[in-house]
Amino acid sequence: MRPILLNPGPVSLSEAVRKAAVNSDLCHREPEFFALQDRVRAGLLDIYACDRAEWTSVLLGGSGTTALEAMLSSLLPRDARLLVVENGVYGERISRIADIHGIEFQAVEHQWMDAIDFDRVAALLATGQFTHVAAVHHETTTGRLNDVSRLAELCVEHGAGLLLDTVSSFGAEAIPFDSPAFIAGAATANKCLHGIPGLCMVICRKSAIEQAAEPPRSLYMHLPLWSEKQDQASTPFTPAVNGLQALDQAMKELAEQGGWQARHARYRKLADRVAGALQRYGVETMLDPAEFSCVLYSYRLPANRSYKTIHDGLKQRGFVIYAGQDKLAAEMFRISTMGDITHYDMERLLAALYAVFAP
Ligand SMILES: *Cc1c(COP(=O)(O)O)cnc(C)c1O
Repeated sequence: MRPILLNPGPVSLSEAVRKAAVNSDLCHREPEFFALQDRVRAGLLDIYACDRAEWTSVLLGGSGTTALEAMLSSLLPRDARLLVVENGVYGERISRIADIHGIEFQAVEHQWMDAIDFDRVAALLATGQFTHVAAVHHETTTGRLNDVSRLAELCVEHGAGLLLDTVSSFGAEAIPFDSPAFIAGAATANKCLHGIPGLCMVICRKSAIEQAAEPPRSLYMHLPLWSEKQDQASTPFTPAVNGLQALDQAMKELAEQGGWQARHARYRKLADRVAGALQRYGVETMLDPAEFSCVLYSYRLPANRSYKTIHDGLKQRGFVIYAGQDKLAAEMFRISTMGDITHYDMERLLAALYAVFAP
């Protein structure tokens, strides 16, 4: 039986995606590769119906953090002053990246369990000190879906550009592409898009590429270079060829299944079934369920079972779950319902939860 990954990426692949990744050898300087590259780039814009005159998608090799670091280090001009909203591991990672690249920034810190305090964000933006805001859309630390539409409205009001870590939401949650403040989102192939790890992307306004940092802060991660070459049916470095082959198939499946809205509904249904089952065994969610993304819910570890017992019991039955991060490891565990999870897998999961949790 194939293992079912309930960690927040990489995900369980469909058989067709797994095959597409290794089906044929492809040279990245041949026309077949550039046709694939064009199709994947256009397909990424189509998922959210982004206007191709305004938006572009830039592919690069690496994990989600590569996309995040490329977005921040390239698209924040040398004189940018960044406000970072932190309410988890990934928000803090944004600050770390800004710090490493010498980007002038200030963080609005929160406890990891807390929602964004918009009054504080608004007060800081009102000082007029900040040209850009960066935040995480779905903060995978807790499963919280941050209200980025509200953040985008504040950015419009105060004339700031908004950059988002949409790594664990792109393909399954609403993203404010319509907001004039929103300029870029970082994403990866191996989460809600159901592709393989090693390929990531930045979806951004063409105007942001034009205003990118000059001189560049990085060689490999400088998005204008990737975007210019990809626009010319070329590539600056060896691309993640197999990652593109897999993503092409995965995006075909996403479209056939009804696009991001259908994926959102599917994830929500699965996550709610898991939460419902766990509630019957006395296991509570860490947040009010209305605060969760559809991608991942976090649960309080019950007093009578260790994480190891839960993890090993589920793994033995074919399901891999995820611990809490850092200081939350002792308090919670996480279950994501991304990936190619069938009705049959779900029935087996409910049986496994019963076996592990029922009193
Ligand atoms: C997964 C994830 C990332 C990227 O992590 P990698 O290990 O680099 O793929 C970034 N932000 C969020 C919110 C994530 O969930």
